[in-house]
Amino acid sequence: MDHLPVFLKLSGRAAVVVGGGRIAARKVELLRRSGARVTVVSPELDQELEILARIGGLRHVPALFKAAHLDGAVIAIAATGIAAVNAAVSAAAQERGIQVNVVDDPQASTFIFPAIIDRSPLIVAVSSGGRAPVLARRIREHIEALLPARLGALARFLGERRQAVRRVLSHAARRPFWERVVRGLVGARLLAGDEVGAGVAFERELRTSRLTDSSATGERGLGECYLIGAGPGDPDLLTLRALQLLQQADVILYDRLVPSSVLERARREAVRVFVGKEAGAHTSQAHINELLVRYAQSGLRVARLKGGDPLIFARGGEEIEALAAHAIPYIVVPGITAAQGAAAAAALPLTHRHLAHSVTFVTGHELEDDAVDWQGLARPGRTVVFYMGVAHLTHIVNRLREAGASAEVPAMIVEKATLPEQRILRGTLETIASIGQDSHVTPPALLLVGAVGGLPHLDAVCGPQTAVVAGAPA
Ligand code: SAH
Repeated sequence: MDHLPVFLKLSGRAAVVVGGGRIAARKVELLRRSGARVTVVSPELDQELEILARIGGLRHVPALFKAAHLDGAVIAIAATGIAAVNAAVSAAAQERGIQVNVVDDPQASTFIFPAIIDRSPLIVAVSSGGRAPVLARRIREHIEALLPARLGALARFLGERRQAVRRVLSHAARRPFWERVVRGLVGARLLAGDEVGAGVAFERELRTSRLTDSSATGERGLGECYLIGAGPGDPDLLTLRALQLLQQADVILYDRLVPSSVLERARREAVRVFVGKEAGAHTSQAHINELLVRYAQSGLRVARLKGGDPLIFARGGEEIEALAAHAIPYIVVPGITAAQGAAAAAALPLTHRHLAHSVTFVTGHELEDDAVDWQGLARPGRTVVFYMGVAHLTHIVNRLREAGASAEVPAMIVEKATLPEQRILRGTLETIASIGQDSHVTPPALLLVGAVGGLPHLDAVCGPQTAVVAGAPA
């Protein structure tokens, strides 16, 4: 270790920055965030520092650097961009026993600045000891993406309750209690911005822990369920929150639409349970509901992972009802629905100022004719996306045509959107059914219908609108 990582308490203490340019301004900002009293020594200030000086955010000494400027400081920063001045600052500081940083010069510095991920009061600092700042910044980016934005709020929330928990739980019970709080629903709710819900969940967790603590049975409390949208297939399209909760789950119930590349992102030790439809075997919805409830009741953190969004053609509503009926705490994490994945893959705007004022998601699965407003769907000025429709292409096209849609209306099939095997087929209502059949389209695929499918840029993205194919639907 070249340097000892420590966190310096600067609140109310004097820091001197020598230099008045942009780099100095960054350091001033950082020092001010930590509560330091900042003095800037520089004949001139750039605009940002000038404004700060005017509103009393810093003390400006409009002079060339002299060693005496460091008197009383606990740290000094040389950010002049002039080697001789920086060296003078470094020497003067070290003479006085003041910690000094010279920007971009670890040799002349007694301390260096790490790359920081600030979720105050939680702070992560990364350093390569000045050897590879680019690498340190990359790592910082990775960690930024991993750490939820509201982690600071969570840390504060926990901090505020530490004393109370200490009073009611034994030493042995506290650690597992905090673990459950952070990893479970309390943490999830708080990170989702629901402080009230987190408070309620916290009290419940505390009650359960007190009971099991005093009876010393070691029994697990009530578990919880995360209803998570896995997105259309590309694992990079998982949300950060989905990833975080998948890292916490004890057991994961997943569908056929969830590819293994997504499952791989889950916690290694989590038990994976397939509950999708597979040739012959089909876990009924009632059975899935029962599994969710049973696992959660045995104290497990259950992730219910569904393709796309859990509340779009996914029977998530029924699962929520089952959980609610058994008073099992749950949280819903939205996913990118297939229509959005397909639209992005094809660069197809689902709405358009001139061509489509609304977008409708329809299931092509149960197409009882009176349940579907074909007249409405056939009207121009809208985009209609049919889920689960490839087996019924001809039927859908015929109904739309009968309801008055023109044969020329653009139509597209996006098969396995966002997955490596993705295919995009373009046509019109007249041709799309034959195109789909000739190309042996298989699920999962979407049918998208509407004038937006005729936008000229699509020729470059997904090839030209295929010409009329013989044997088009009557
Ligand atoms: N909850 C899911 C939809 C489940 S219904 C969501 O929000 O996306 C299943 C249907 O979704 C499939 O029959 C297909 O029409 C569509 N679908 C799901 N993933 C898809 C993908 N990667 N590409 C194209 N269509 C997909």
